[in-house]
Amino acid sequence: MKNVTLIWMTAAALTACAGAQKNNMDKTKEDTNFNYIVDQFADIQVLRYKVPGFESLSLQQKELLYHLSEAALMGRDILFDQNCRYNLPIRRTLEAIYKEYKGDRKDAQFIALETYLKRVWFANGIHHHYAEDKFVPGFTEEFFKSCVSQIEPSKLPLRQGQTADQFIKEICPVIFDPKVMPKRTVQSGDEDLILASANNYYGGGITQKEVENFYTHMKAGKDTIRPVSYGLNSRLVKENGKVIEKVWKVGGLYSAAIEKIVDELQKASAYAENDAQKVIINKLIEYYRSGNLKTFDAYSILWVEDTASDVDFVNGFIETYGDPLGMKASWESTVNFINKEATKRTKIISDNAQWFEDHSPVDKRFKKEKVKGVSAKVINIAMLGGDCYPSTPIGINLPNADWIRRDYGSKSVTIENITEAYDKASQGNGFSEEFTWSDIERNIIKKYGFITDNLHTDLHECLGHGSGKLLPNTDPDALKAYNSTLEEARADLFGLYYLGDAKLVELKLVPDAEAYKAEYYKYIMNGLITQLVRIEQGKNVEEAHMRNRQLIAKWVYEKGKTDKVIELKKRDNKTYVVINDYQKLRTLFGSLLAEVQRIKSEGDYAAGKRLVENYGVKVDQTLHAEVLARYAKLHLAPYKGFVNPVIKEVKNKENKVTDVILDYSENYVDQMMRYSRDYSFLPSYNE
Ligand code: ZN
Repeated sequence: MKNVTLIWMTAAALTACAGAQKNNMDKTKEDTNFNYIVDQFADIQVLRYKVPGFESLSLQQKELLYHLSEAALMGRDILFDQNCRYNLPIRRTLEAIYKEYKGDRKDAQFIALETYLKRVWFANGIHHHYAEDKFVPGFTEEFFKSCVSQIEPSKLPLRQGQTADQFIKEICPVIFDPKVMPKRTVQSGDEDLILASANNYYGGGITQKEVENFYTHMKAGKDTIRPVSYGLNSRLVKENGKVIEKVWKVGGLYSAAIEKIVDELQKASAYAENDAQKVIINKLIEYYRSGNLKTFDAYSILWVEDTASDVDFVNGFIETYGDPLGMKASWESTVNFINKEATKRTKIISDNAQWFEDHSPVDKRFKKEKVKGVSAKVINIAMLGGDCYPSTPIGINLPNADWIRRDYGSKSVTIENITEAYDKASQGNGFSEEFTWSDIERNIIKKYGFITDNLHTDLHECLGHGSGKLLPNTDPDALKAYNSTLEEARADLFGLYYLGDAKLVELKLVPDAEAYKAEYYKYIMNGLITQLVRIEQGKNVEEAHMRNRQLIAKWVYEKGKTDKVIELKKRDNKTYVVINDYQKLRTLFGSLLAEVQRIKSEGDYAAGKRLVENYGVKVDQTLHAEVLARYAKLHLAPYKGFVNPVIKEVKNKENKVTDVILDYSENYVDQMMRYSRDYSFLPSYNE
């Protein structure tokens, strides 16, 4: 279902502890000249990733990657508009100011505007990419107005017949008034979630009740065994009192960008590695042209069955985290190719998928009798786009449709060049020293942290999301706004439970029976304490992955309290996690996994809601203040994302492509300005 995992990467040093690490050791030498850290502003650090193995691909594969990469960038504007209908005009106005500004660029007001623009780029809009809150500008409304007034009106994103003054009147409250569109997505609470959310998945004025009625009506009497993903690729609006879907397709909403995506996919198709892959790309083109969700399912089945190609990609309306009702998908793309050496690890896991399913602690009624087509691989990313850029997952499991997973399986990936960049960039930053209890934990994390982190991602993606089944009459949307959090919890728990299993030692996936403690400690420390650095004082936990991690950590802490499985200990007025009984902790992970699976299989909304609201949402204010103060002293940024390499065709005198190369020298601002210049096709207002 919901597949993106973003683990808090701590400074796990690259020590040789498993076969796959040898590669990394070899790479360290050349890495000394590679700048992983590109930029830092607000709560963001921008990194760069390497693409090892790209040079040794064939020219045909490189050409395929090139055109898929172009397709990955073509849809950037779509996501901006999906996140909020004012994002494109605001981004364009800020970029115009950034280009045209004649005053002192060292002036505090201008620097604040520059920071705000950097944040808007990073979040693909005016709301925080993780916390969902609208950014508070560090510059004044007067400064902004004076900047806008100096720009030639033809360079402003004005509506038809609108003057610059009218434009300023319309746009200023959106930027400056904290009461206007305060949150991108509201996931819980008693308000009308649709009306309260600033995102653009639903037209203005449409209520949650109207949306729910519309889709209940649409689903009535339809195929429940193999349902399409209702609402996935459209905006729902009310026009002349009638509720209708505006489909995102060629000739529909977002057509100008989708046409460009299709153009590049057509070029890519000519370089497909094999006929099956060509058929897949062409099916995706067919779907973008028709907007037909049955075609999307047909495409997803073809895609999940292709395990022979080295080059692979995601391109489309995929993840539904941004919609409070979990139906409408944001546009995203990743372009990648297999890391064959590291894939030996995930091959072992997927070969044993049935064993893991059979031995899991969940009720037999909710288990898959036969696990189908779990294919897992380790990949290196060559290009990120849409909702995977600049903030990106480290593991992905697709497709999302439950019935396709049931009947055809899923494809699961761990993204090694991204985890490697996180790891390299965080080495020696003081984080581990500040927050871990003692050298015992630190040494375990140093010794096993990198491998168990990657293994947890493998297990989460490859087995966790694919495990279990719904009871025959359970509506896949039954858990509504709590679905994302519970689905992530299910996958995380599956991984955690098995990390501590003797089977992993037997399969030689971990070097010994101690290794799992590294991930257990990091997970609990993160869920109870350190992930709070990502949240502003006074706020609750909002994002699904973060809610999931707190839910798990708090639940096992509470349930193990009498046995002192986990303790929160104080030293010098600082709070630390101490784990006294790792085996009992594993049993608790198993119990919670069984319960979360039951909730999902039965569609028990009330129990799911209780679990999330009681454990995943609320923050202890005193602890939060302490953690923020400790973290501030380290001068780190809690959120990270990436710039892409520049991918270029090399041509000879006859204009024939002789090679495709990657250039790693572009900085963050230049990349964003270039993307806005070369990959921006949508009108400012898409209505
Ligand atoms: Zn996941």
